[in-house]
This record gives sequence, C-alpha cells and structure tokens, in this order.
Amino acid sequence: AAKSAGRNTYRFFQQDMQDRISQRLTLEMELRLALVQRDLELHYQPKVDLATGNILGVEALLRWWHPLRGLLLPADFIPLAEECGLICELGDWVLDEVCHQSAVWQAAGHTFKIAFNISPHQLETGDLVARISELTALHGIAPSDLEIELTESAVMAYSIQAASVLARLRGIGVTVAVSDFCAGYSSLAYLRKLPIDILKINHSFVTDADSNAEDAQIVKTILALGRMFKLTMEAEGIETSHQAELLKSFGCGIAQGYFFSRPLPAQEFENWLDAKIDANGRASPSKQPLD
Ligand code: C2E
Repeated sequence: AAKSAGRNTYRFFQQDMQDRISQRLTLEMELRLALVQRDLELHYQPKVDLATGNILGVEALLRWWHPLRGLLLPADFIPLAEECGLICELGDWVLDEVCHQSAVWQAAGHTFKIAFNISPHQLETGDLVARISELTALHGIAPSDLEIELTESAVMAYSIQAASVLARLRGIGVTVAVSDFCAGYSSLAYLRKLPIDILKINHSFVTDADSNAEDAQIVKTILALGRMFKLTMEAEGIETSHQAELLKSFGCGIAQGYFFSRPLPAQEFENWLDAKIDANGRASPSKQPLD
C-alpha cells in the first residue's frame, strides 16, 4: 500500500509539473504574440511634490491586455519574460512607447520627465545607452526627459555592470532612480557610491511608518541620510492624507501613491492632469476607491 501511495504521489507530482510547464509555455507563446499584436499598454502614475502639490513627474507601469484573462499586472508576466528572454524585447517596447508619449505630452506643453522601469537583464545585454540615444532622437525628445528605475535588488545583484551602465546613462542626461529601497536592506553607504540620483522608499516602510513609531524613526533617519548623501528621496505607496503629511513632516520631497492617483492609461492620466491644472495646478487626492 505504501508503495502504491508513493507511486500515486509521484504520478501526481509529475502531472503537476507537466501542467506547470505547459501553462508556462502557453503564457510564453501568448506573450510573444502580445508583443507582435501590441496588446501591451503603459499606465501612468504621478509623482507629486509634497510641499506644493505640483506634479513633478510620472512613472510608466507596464500592463498586458490578455485576450482571456483581462488586464495583467507586471507580477503576472515580468518574471516569466525575464526567464524566457523576452524581457529585452518587452523593455524595448516600453522605451519606445515612453519616448513617444513624452513627445506627445511635451508638444501639449507638459514638461515633466517620464520614469520607466528596466530589468537588470537590459543592463547586461545590448547597449541600452545607445538605444536610448537612438530612440530619443527618433522621437525628438532629449535623454534628460527620461528617468530610469531599477529595483534595489537588481542594482545590488548586478552592481558592477550596473555602475558602469548607470554612469553612462547619467552621462547622456538620463536621471537614475533606485526603487524598492529598504526592501533588500542594502547599505545606503554602499548605494551612495553608485551613480544614482533618486532613492524611492519601499511602500511597506511608508505603511509601517504610519502605525509604528520605530518604523517611523527608521524612515526619518533614512530620509535624513539620503539628503546628506545629496540624493533625492521619494516615497512610494502613499495611500492616505496622514501618510502624506507624515512623510512631508519628515522632509520627504516627492511622493507617489493611490492617495494622489492610481496608475492610469495615457488619456485618463491627461484628463486627471487637466482637472488638476484647472483646480490651480495642485495635486489633490484621487476620488477613486482604493483596492
Ligand atoms: P515599482 O516600480 O515599485 O512600481 C510601483 C508599484 O506600486 C506599481 O505596481 C504601482 O501600481 C503600485 N502602487 C502605486 N501606488 C500604490 C499605493 O498607494 N499602494 C500600493 N499598495 N501600491 C501602489 P505595478 O504596476 O504592479 O508594478 C509592480 C512592479 O513591476 C514595479 O514596481 C516595477 O518594479 C515592475 N514593472 C512595472 N512596469 C515595468 C516595466 O515596464 N518593465 C520592468 N522591467 N518592470 C516593470
């Protein structure tokens, strides 16, 4: 009986593995098709000056309109794209789209930078610097209109390649931001030696700072250290007015989060922006419900 139970477990395990492999292959095929059919979309979330309420920039976040599953978030497909080597193609689509959107918004009189995420693989393969120069020229914008974001863990994992590519990117005028800061507990002293401009504090720290005095003290100290190292400090994941006030009182200059606006498709973002500009150019809380 034990033997047959073992065999059944093995069969179940094998079936489970096969199911997973086939699901993965299907998703990979669908993602390749999505790239060809352009079933991808960027959503935009504002970066707000906490002192004045002005919009200082915008972050582009990738979405995939899956034919059966609807709107997919990066967590549903970026890891797969990284594994199967599609991430560079995906990243190139994002870059091209960001350059296009930047040109459109600049023509409409908006001067903010667009930040976009890159995967560490994009630092390793191809020449990201040359590609940014090429695409910005093609769309008639400057590299200084762009900001690239890498996660803290990506920078730490690829620190040697990262440092030289990031230095070259800054050399052509691109702003460099490290997001998810604090999530990997890397040393600020080490990060400060890398060629970066902006540190974005991970949203879980912002949430915890709201309810826990010790966490609040940590965030306050990180902000002070960041300023000492002449880095621009930003807070991610602001969901309430209290969090915005708290971060502002800690001297954090820039913030992003559902409190101001969720990430929105380009046209909806423009409408949101126009409404803000009508209401004296200041950012005000989003009227949309939180998750
Ligand atoms: P990230 O760069 O840290 O982006 C912020 C994430 O937090 C976004 O999730 C955004 O929707 C979410 N967010 C914004 N405000 C709030 C808030 O107030 N509360 C909470 N709980 N969350 C908030 P999203 O869009 O799912 O993106 C997740 C991550 O996927 C991004 O983290 C980024 O690392 C990655 N990513 C997004 N777009 C791209 C891309 O084009 N290429 C690559 N390689 N990675 C991307």
